[in-house]
Amino acid sequence: MKECIKRNRVLLVITIIFSVISSVTMVGVSLLLQSTIDKVMNGDMEGFKKVLAFTLIYCLIMGLLYFIYDILSKMFVRNVTKELRDKIFSGIIKHNYKDFNSKNTADYISALTNDIKLVEENYITSILLVFQFSVAFLATIGILLYLSPLVTACLFVSMLLIFIVPSIFGKKLESKQMNLSNKLTSFTTLIKDMLSGYDIIKSYNLKKDTFKEFEEENIDLAKAKFEADKLLVINETLSQLLGMGTQFVAVFLSAYLVLKGNITMGTLIAIVQLSGSFIQPVIMIMSYLPKITSMNSVITRLDELSNYKDSSFTGNGNPSFKNSIELKNINFEYEENKHIIDGVDLTIIKNKKYAIVGPSGCGKSTLVKLILGYYADYNGQIKYDDNEIRNLNIEKINNMTSIIHQNVYMFDKNIKDNICLYKNFSYENINEILKLSGAYEFINEIEEGLDYHMGENGNNLSGGQKQRIAIARALIQETPILVLDEGTSAIDMQTGYDIENRLLSLEDLTLITITHKMSEELLSLYDEIIYMENGKIIEQGSFEDLIKRGERFFDFYKLETA
Ligand code: ADP
Repeated sequence: MKECIKRNRVLLVITIIFSVISSVTMVGVSLLLQSTIDKVMNGDMEGFKKVLAFTLIYCLIMGLLYFIYDILSKMFVRNVTKELRDKIFSGIIKHNYKDFNSKNTADYISALTNDIKLVEENYITSILLVFQFSVAFLATIGILLYLSPLVTACLFVSMLLIFIVPSIFGKKLESKQMNLSNKLTSFTTLIKDMLSGYDIIKSYNLKKDTFKEFEEENIDLAKAKFEADKLLVINETLSQLLGMGTQFVAVFLSAYLVLKGNITMGTLIAIVQLSGSFIQPVIMIMSYLPKITSMNSVITRLDELSNYKDSSFTGNGNPSFKNSIELKNINFEYEENKHIIDGVDLTIIKNKKYAIVGPSGCGKSTLVKLILGYYADYNGQIKYDDNEIRNLNIEKINNMTSIIHQNVYMFDKNIKDNICLYKNFSYENINEILKLSGAYEFINEIEEGLDYHMGENGNNLSGGQKQRIAIARALIQETPILVLDEGTSAIDMQTGYDIENRLLSLEDLTLITITHKMSEELLSLYDEIIYMENGKIIEQGSFEDLIKRGERFFDFYKLETA
């Protein structure tokens, strides 16, 4: 947050300069009033005309100055919030797999939308206003002292009371604002969840139940907002009341001084006018200060997101994959004492093809994710050639690997963008990959071809079509390692078989497939079958060997194909 403000310091300084000039100019109006009234009281027509002409020009300049200040402050708010959003988004994107998934995605959305709005209204704008009011206040004191030190002293005493108010509410307001920010997050989470589950709501006829749940959360949110607003209102009302009291002190005291002949009528009018611009800034400052301090927790949360540093993979070595990836005695758990991977030893040899099979939940995906560097908190060693993955640059590892998940994600863009992912590839190259991934034919049948817009998460296409696009997306990167995590599960048997067969024939590719398809035809094409149970590798070898052995894989195979 501070960094974003610092980066815009030149604009901030210019804004502050205009804030000072426009505030002082506004306070100066009281001197014009004083002069006008005194000229009138003395029957000085010539002087009155001069003051009138001067006042007109003065007002025009004042309007212009205020306009410039307002535009500058809006520019400052725009720049800081834009940079803050950039920083938060870049921090979120930097999260490692584990940290990213430890929060609901709605938390991130809420930080980028609701929290930024809170910071804009209650922090940045408030700080600028507090500064502007402070300048107005100081200028007022200067002129008041010049007009009547006695009235100034009395105004100061009554003003002290106004200072006490915000200190009573500051802490309470901070906790109410934090509560509001939390409620906004859970509200966003709920809406996101409900809208993503629209199909289920429709097909199970859950409209009423969903609306009820929404309504409850909506009431909670409205309550939290009102709780924070209530405190703000109490704070503001008290400040206004105290302010009015102080203004009365100024009016009656200067009226008394006029009666005694100590000051002129013009000075009385000027003091009355100034007592407003003396108290109003104090009231505003006192009502804005708690808003600013109440943002502390929200800003800390945003700073944590923007300044995120991945502490799991800190290595910077250059990875190589000339020979093998070696796993030695790997143990891993997501939650304490719940072993998911249990003492795994495995060697993946370059350009060989591996099929990982086993009952659902036995740890196949987790093992593959460990190989690809998703998690760093495992025990044992994972070595690319002879280098431990934790000592290597993880982004470079990512450039060497591609994974196709069962549930592929498609961006709300066209097919070409979803395949190329911000990179440029020639049409020949894309077409060649489309043929390999089995997507060529159906894309050619669509009128817009590669320009076809896929809709939210590719909803305009079938699951099988999306998977074929995901395969093309992975293959076009030409990474030496490709993982298919049930990556052809939504494709019909024959097409899936054809695609897998083509991938198995690519000589320069190390392929690791997690599969439930117990097809002898396919499995026998793999160099090795890795059979897992309960986080352990139970058997390993060619399909033929394992079937001949007639042990656990054989039983599993028989059961699945029965
Ligand atoms: P498989 O691929 O063999 O079906 P997984 O590796 O996906 O198995 O999951 C193995 C176990 O780890 C399962 O019990 C699953 O519930 C658990 N698991 C998977 N991912 C997570 C996660 N992100 N957090 C906590 N537990 C997980």
